[in-house]
Amino acid sequence: MKTYIVGNWKLNFTVGEASIYLHKLLKNLPNYRDVEVVVAPSLIALQPLSLQIDRHKMKLAAQNAFYRDYGAFTGEVSFSQLRGIVDYAIIGHSERRYIFREDDKMVAKKVAAAIRNKITPILCIGETESERAFGETADVIRDQLIGGLSEVSDDDLDKVIIAYEPVWAISSVRECKLATPDEISEVVKLIKKALKDTYGANLAEKVPILFGGSVNPSNAGSYLTVPGINGLLIGGASLILGEFTDIMEIAKRVRA
Ligand code: PEP
Repeated sequence: MKTYIVGNWKLNFTVGEASIYLHKLLKNLPNYRDVEVVVAPSLIALQPLSLQIDRHKMKLAAQNAFYRDYGAFTGEVSFSQLRGIVDYAIIGHSERRYIFREDDKMVAKKVAAAIRNKITPILCIGETESERAFGETADVIRDQLIGGLSEVSDDDLDKVIIAYEPVWAISSVRECKLATPDEISEVVKLIKKALKDTYGANLAEKVPILFGGSVNPSNAGSYLTVPGINGLLIGGASLILGEFTDIMEIAKRVRA
């Protein structure tokens, strides 16, 4: 399985800034064999950047899209419109769940729409600080995971990526804390068990699991060596070219 290094740029960079960043990134980006490099710019930048990138070296992700392919949905962009422009889509990010009130039903429809349009969904799941404090982590993880996958057929399970992002570890959350490798490992076991119980061991082991939450070059190595972790979803540090490329190099070394 590949190691995924995914940068989530959120609401940062103009189209011009994003293009300059990618120009610099591509100039020195080796053709990593086992590391899949992905960035998720703002929606408005995706189309021009799709003409700029070398898809042998890296891929683009959408940060969101709407689950209907067309129709009277003012202001929305569909996965069908993104087909051919992006290879991945981040779905169910905690900022979408808590700021934009997306629930598991909405997330499930988006996951299905992405797959229908040949876009790999990166389904984000993760407990809040208070859910963890009340001992609800296992239930939240299971509900978000199985809920988010509820419209995915068994045949399509291998087209999905899961990202475990504890909300309390995301750098933009006030007083965020760093997750420890042990805490991540516990949740990876929960995810694997829920997948195995629902889909069987053979299908479950095909699903990559990423970790996200204040990842930077000093902790990336320890997170990438957590058993069952297949990559990283990176917010803040992906905006800094040097940090993002350092994390790719760390991923390459961990793989070697
Ligand atoms: C994120 O929001 O997906 C994220 C992981 O952010 P950060 O790396 O900044 O914590």
